[in-house]
Amino acid sequence: MNLPSHMGARGGHLYLGAHDCVSLAAEFGTPVFVTDEDRIRENFRRFRAALTRHSPAVRILYAAKANGNLSVLQTLAREGAGADVFSAGEVNLALLAGMQPEHLLFNGSSKSRADLALAVEKNIRVSVDSFDELRQLDTVAGDAGAEVEISFRVNPALEVPTHPKIATGLSTSKFGIPAGQILDAYREALACTHVRPVGMHCHIGSQILDVEPFARAAEVMVQVAGEVTDIGVDLAFLDIGGGLGIPYRRGEDVAPGPEAYADVVMPVVLEGLAQLGISPELWVEPGRSLVGDSTVLLTGVNSVKSAHKRFVNVDAGFNLLVRPAMYDSYHEVVVANRADAPPVQEYTVTGPICETGDILAADRMLPVVEEGDVIAVLDTGAYGFSMSSQYNSRPRCPEVMVSGERKALMRRAETVGDLLATMEPLPWH
Ligand SMILES: *Cc1c(COP(=O)(O)O)cnc(C)c1O
Repeated sequence: MNLPSHMGARGGHLYLGAHDCVSLAAEFGTPVFVTDEDRIRENFRRFRAALTRHSPAVRILYAAKANGNLSVLQTLAREGAGADVFSAGEVNLALLAGMQPEHLLFNGSSKSRADLALAVEKNIRVSVDSFDELRQLDTVAGDAGAEVEISFRVNPALEVPTHPKIATGLSTSKFGIPAGQILDAYREALACTHVRPVGMHCHIGSQILDVEPFARAAEVMVQVAGEVTDIGVDLAFLDIGGGLGIPYRRGEDVAPGPEAYADVVMPVVLEGLAQLGISPELWVEPGRSLVGDSTVLLTGVNSVKSAHKRFVNVDAGFNLLVRPAMYDSYHEVVVANRADAPPVQEYTVTGPICETGDILAADRMLPVVEEGDVIAVLDTGAYGFSMSSQYNSRPRCPEVMVSGERKALMRRAETVGDLLATMEPLPWH
């Protein structure tokens, strides 16, 4: 396994930046997510530099659902990021983090009238996903005496090599307006009184380890951009979504970096737009590639069991990291207190949840593991805590941020009191 450059092994212990993961586990308790702020900045700057090498007219909208902690949003806001937001909660957190309303795009295929009203009130552009939503938005904006700028989410009908649950641009996906209806959608938007179409949006899926699908999506977008320009739409932005994957199988996966992504996508977009004689800003919406590798989940070993396999029973399960159970995802695991010991034994790392599928890592060669060891689950910064639950009535674990020598809680651990906080006693009990 090749550890990413912000991690390493020293004196037998795993390090995240300047911090000994074993000491972090002792100080904050396990389980705990620890995020390296410097790595997020580095990832963001690298992504931005890769894009701006081709054109300065680009904007990065961080996909807030990947990791919605306010501190993470603040880190990215200070770097100049906007956000792809999918809910009222994400809108509010992104604004609280200091992001500008004009740097947000309200996405989603099922927005409520309240969501639409919030977008209008906060002056946030909406990526409209259906004719029904367009008409509702026109009414909602009209009621508020406002005008709202929109894009449509285009379904480019592309096959994309990733897990089917995270392929979002298939012709059969729930997202976006089919290419065959997109011109009618823009025509109808042009005729609306309180809606102004100014953008175009797509997002083809997530954890994509090949840049070609992005280029093909960009081709579709440029072609549709030409068609909507011809019917009188003045495009201010073209948003090609996120989805660039990361090498979860460290040492095996070959993941294109943002440079390879930009080198393939940007020429398609820039040359295409130049031919059309238009120059909208180019927006991208990376999530995982900005925050995925920034975080380790440190989990303590409760017990080891030899059955038909050797099980390592740890204190984090799919309540905290659902990706392996939900997407068959692979995460590297490292025994943090024996980080440079040779692997000698095959183990399956399982969580404390009452489900057979509560497996974090199956059939991994590890050093000898025993009670009290600390296992680090790598690359848990995206879709880790943000997809966590209180299943089995387990209060969620804390999140810690480190930056240089500094470290601090960015979310405290939940307590049993927190589990009860929203429950109401029934009047007849
Ligand atoms: C989830 C999502 C993203 C980010 O995807 P990543 O794979 O994390 O880069 C971007 N845009 C939209 C609309 C999304 O739903």
